[in-house]
Amino acid sequence: MYKIKVNLAQKDYPILIKRGIINSLDFEIGRIYKNKKIAIITDHNIKGIYGDRIIESLSAYGFQIHTILVNPGEGSKSIQVLSHVYNQLLDIGINRKDLIVAFGGGVVGDLAGFAASTFLRGIRYIQVPTSLLAQIDSSVGGKVGINLPRGKNLVGNFYHPESVFIDPDLLNTLPNRYLYDGMAEVIKYACIRDKTMYEKLLSIESKEKLYENIEEIIYSCCSIKKEIVEKDERESGERMLLNFGHTIGHAIEKFFNYETFTHGEAVAIGMYCITRQSEEMGITKKGTSSLIKRILVQYNLPFEIGEIDNSRLLESIALDKKGEEDILNIVLLKEIGAGFINKINKEDIGEFVSHL
Ligand code: ADP
Ligand code: ZN
Repeated sequence: MYKIKVNLAQKDYPILIKRGIINSLDFEIGRIYKNKKIAIITDHNIKGIYGDRIIESLSAYGFQIHTILVNPGEGSKSIQVLSHVYNQLLDIGINRKDLIVAFGGGVVGDLAGFAASTFLRGIRYIQVPTSLLAQIDSSVGGKVGINLPRGKNLVGNFYHPESVFIDPDLLNTLPNRYLYDGMAEVIKYACIRDKTMYEKLLSIESKEKLYENIEEIIYSCCSIKKEIVEKDERESGERMLLNFGHTIGHAIEKFFNYETFTHGEAVAIGMYCITRQSEEMGITKKGTSSLIKRILVQYNLPFEIGEIDNSRLLESIALDKKGEEDILNIVLLKEIGAGFINKINKEDIGEFVSHL
């Protein structure tokens, strides 16, 4: 088992990483929560696979369990679904002393966390992330929120859970595309902070081997995120490092209407493209972009968008940045394991994306 303690100005909380920890969730929650009532927010897929097991064991422990179900997928991060969640919380009679458990991928975590942060001005919640992306990224750091029709994550909050319980065994049922989607963010951590992890990832040759090592990989990622978030909880400085590959990544996702590429796939292309450019500019050590390409290919991730006319995409990136300040922060690598924040003039963004 790995334990990480996140120490923030307002709050400390643990992240526990352990195979099979969901089988002792009753005991783990019982240690930190003395009331009876718990609202578990989850999606249909997770409920279908793990729901009964969890509900039975928590009920046997004496908790009064109520399940709030949402549809799988990004569409559930909406005002309509949030409103449905609030109504269910009211129907169940959840009060300020009760607990919400977010049991699912990033969608459930963001939605349930935001509901917890706002319902009755904030009630306690626990994260039990089930996708790789949620286990290494979205469940750590307190960012919660929903989308608006005009854009993603436009309504949100920084609101930390009481605890995060990560069970790597849950990944056994995660569909491959989502597994590799999460691996893009793992690769991101290696690129910005951890050359040893890069080498480790390179030495893993099969999905079986990946699963053998996944607990340690999750631990490395969460440790990096913890360290960065502790220094800069609200993303005014160092936390921006976590956006490596994301300026271009977000633009790609949006350009293709969130249909063609997953978040991780778009970030993968973004990491390679910006590094190829910064390498050509002499900012990044030669050979770094090839190393990124190699690891992306190994984990079934794309490194380019393919045969399309990219001028419209470039235009849309520039347009995307229109409302922002004149100076943009973009994340570049000195080499693998050493990311840094580079300030550029907004007009120069085109130069950095010319390899798309
Ligand atoms: P994210 O990739 O941000 O975590 P989602 O919350 O949408 O996004 O999760 C991705 C998809 O994988 C959803 O369809 C979800 O129901 C499914 N899923 C998440 N965790 C598991 C799991 N452990 N086993 C099977 N399916 C899962
Ligand atoms: Zn991301």
